[in-house]
Amino acid sequence: MSKTEQFISEVDRVSAHNYHPIPAVISHAEGIWMTDVEGNKYIDMLSAYSAVNQGHRHPKIIKAMEEQAKKLTLTSRAFHNDQMGPFLTKLTKLTGYDKGLMMNTGAEAVETAIKAARRWGYNKKNVPANKAKIIVCEDNFHGRTTTIVGFSTDPLCQTGFGPYTPGFEIIPYDDTDALENAIDENTVAFLVEPIQGEAGVKVPSEGYLKRCREITKKHNVLLICDEIQTGFGRTGKMFCSEWDNVRPDIITMGKAMGGGVYPVSGIVADDEIMMAAFEPGNHGSTFGGNPMACAIASASIDVILDEHLAERAHEMGEFFRGELRKIDSDSIKIVRGRGLLTGLEFNTPCAHDISVELMKHGILAKDTHGTTIRFAPPLVITKDELAGAVEKIAKVIGNLNGK
Ligand SMILES: *Cc1c(COP(=O)(O)O)cnc(C)c1O
Repeated sequence: MSKTEQFISEVDRVSAHNYHPIPAVISHAEGIWMTDVEGNKYIDMLSAYSAVNQGHRHPKIIKAMEEQAKKLTLTSRAFHNDQMGPFLTKLTKLTGYDKGLMMNTGAEAVETAIKAARRWGYNKKNVPANKAKIIVCEDNFHGRTTTIVGFSTDPLCQTGFGPYTPGFEIIPYDDTDALENAIDENTVAFLVEPIQGEAGVKVPSEGYLKRCREITKKHNVLLICDEIQTGFGRTGKMFCSEWDNVRPDIITMGKAMGGGVYPVSGIVADDEIMMAAFEPGNHGSTFGGNPMACAIASASIDVILDEHLAERAHEMGEFFRGELRKIDSDSIKIVRGRGLLTGLEFNTPCAHDISVELMKHGILAKDTHGTTIRFAPPLVITKDELAGAVEKIAKVIGNLNGK
């Protein structure tokens, strides 16, 4: 058995089978490159679902982590630490909101936004107790907690995990009439991804989010944008909602907030919501806002700003999709995306097999929902590296067709 086979059979034996990974066992990574246990090198075209926007082990982020590890790692929120205030000052200045609330994983940030919206509804909108409604979209992905999977429309995420939390209504994505029709007097929020990443990089029509903002404002409903995957430069702006000049009431963030080295998540909102929703003791997390998280997230934001990674993502993404569209193949249905978040959709459910073939050619990417491959390399990738990747992608697709 090869080393790879040994590692994989071990995982099959001792780990719950809740993933179906591409069969590469990675042991090292730097920048856009990953190396497996056999010494094979790959371009990372997934970036841990956009958690590694800054590139693997960015020296400034690793340095911040090492320096903080020598001083203080955890106090819990029972005591203050000297990192959270300065970090939230940076985050609120960056985003233009009054306050932030820190958690660890994306799902927790979404849960926090749901709790905030409900409390705001009861305290500020006089919604009767336990009647708050939150509108969500078909094909959403907001995480894996029991409440969140309860309003998923993906049977794989949801089946067998009921009973599900009430208080959510599902409408089609990219349909503003459906949004306006679904709003009633008890509606407290509309929760939406500016681009649906997990659904296969679904980019809504021009101006969708802007119209959602107008409708929610008109009906005194909070607009919650889940920017956990689209945030921190991925789509060519610091946050994807900026493309529509939209200011959501709450932004949920995570993934690249921790620079690919540490789980960090949170929400930002103004006092009107934060002060109505939260009081000492009604929400929290042992690790939320810990000094390691704050030091790392602070460096992670600095890297995105200093290296102009959002602007780079825009430029490189346009180039990448332009090159992909030149691939002449009947099996390609459409190429879509924004910044360095790209979906390549095929006419048949061949995306997993193609991902495995790409691995053999030195590219690590992952299919989503069978027909689409998501390409989301670290934002530090160069034009030449992208051009090289496209050549390999074209070759693999060409082989598939026998062309
Ligand atoms: C990944 C993701 C989440 C969940 O984040 P976790 O850290 O895996 O809990 C939520 N929303 C969106 C849009 C995501 O892409």
